[in-house]
Amino acid sequence: MISEPLVFIGTCDLAGLVRGKGFPAADLPARLTKGIGLTHSNIMMSPQGPIYDTPFGTLGDLMLAPDESTKVEVDFQDGAAAERFYLGDILTTDGAVWECCPRDFLRRALAALDQATGQRGIALLAAFEQEFAYTGAEPRPGATYALDAWRRQGSFGEIYMAALRAAGVAPDSFLPEYGSCQYEVTLAPERGLRAADAAVIQREMARATAHRLGHRAIFAPILDPAGIGNGTHIHFSLRDGDDAPVMYDAARPYRLSALGEQFVAGVLHHLPALAAVTAPSPVSYIRLRPNRWAPTWANVGVQDRGAAIRICPIFGHDAAAQQFNVEYRVADAAASPYLALGALIWAGADGIRNRRALPPMPVKSFWDMSDDERAAAGGRGLPRSLAEALDLLAASDAAREWFGAAFLHVYLRFKRAELNAVEGLSEADLCARYAEIY
Ligand code: GLU
Ligand code: MG
Repeated sequence: MISEPLVFIGTCDLAGLVRGKGFPAADLPARLTKGIGLTHSNIMMSPQGPIYDTPFGTLGDLMLAPDESTKVEVDFQDGAAAERFYLGDILTTDGAVWECCPRDFLRRALAALDQATGQRGIALLAAFEQEFAYTGAEPRPGATYALDAWRRQGSFGEIYMAALRAAGVAPDSFLPEYGSCQYEVTLAPERGLRAADAAVIQREMARATAHRLGHRAIFAPILDPAGIGNGTHIHFSLRDGDDAPVMYDAARPYRLSALGEQFVAGVLHHLPALAAVTAPSPVSYIRLRPNRWAPTWANVGVQDRGAAIRICPIFGHDAAAQQFNVEYRVADAAASPYLALGALIWAGADGIRNRRALPPMPVKSFWDMSDDERAAAGGRGLPRSLAEALDLLAASDAAREWFGAAFLHVYLRFKRAELNAVEGLSEADLCARYAEIY
């Protein structure tokens, strides 16, 4: 049959979904400069699809402009059309960045980090560790981390790894996880904006691979209220202008350099409110419950998979500073990586600017403490619901500065409309609904 190649341009939007428009690949040179038209209310499309509420109405035009560095062209050699897409920025018709562009939120956060560190060329390196359920594997008890579970994903894993490489991102690991039919993929670290672009590509290539095999890769935060959640953990570290690691100091508490401590303390300081951006769905708060290796407190823990911020281990004695990284665990795939990483960096930059400090390292395990002792050790409970998280974000002056008043208003309105739309659903129905979406 005859066919002509098509290309898609998208952004990972407020719903954490990649949405955009397509055109003939033959028009790519022109589209690389002029993008494709959008309207302001496009950003108000709920995870469920409909625009429940919008301050923009039906008015206005914007452009979605592809960034050439994000090019994905993956021929799966299965006879079907190749995956061809670009990620991009939302611009006004004058070519200026639109104030509600998710990708620019991250770009502005990186600029704030640069400013806070005295323009010494400090860069943030990040690697996303993402969990999902693969519907092509048969659920079996006892399959947690099992070789048999690894085998039962069939050819998915190997096709997925090849697709990631063909898409220009480097996989670090692929493994069977704790949950039913749950797998995890981690990428090699990348700098700044590229780390978030790579995280979007990481999700989309899993979905594309599963689709071609007649299945789904489901990244919803949790699929069953009694089950195990899918986290999107963000590993990060700081580098100087010569690419040397600057977050590690073996002699200091938490092995964090002074700069590293300030950054992490900023994240901790803003954490309860940050959850509204990084764990932004109603079901995210079903995941954030005890006994799931998911965080329930805003705290820092050394090699603790129950902590919100985990100081990761160093393996062996070589290149400790190179290996050293910190993991932010309060995130899931309902969040756009641009907003999640952006919020993390805004908070870290604020920590540096205000020279924030971490609480002293606790002498006993966080989990052996009473709630009062945890609070005395600097811990605070994470929000229990999206509504609670959104109220914290709305009350945060810092968030108003990060987003800008207009974008924050849009974000809160968007998320509150989503909550409204699912009001009254049981937890099981909520999980089922979000599993269909993500
Ligand atoms: N599934 C857990 C979560 O929801 C994380 C398990 C792990 O430590 O990788 O975050
Ligand atoms: Mg995991």
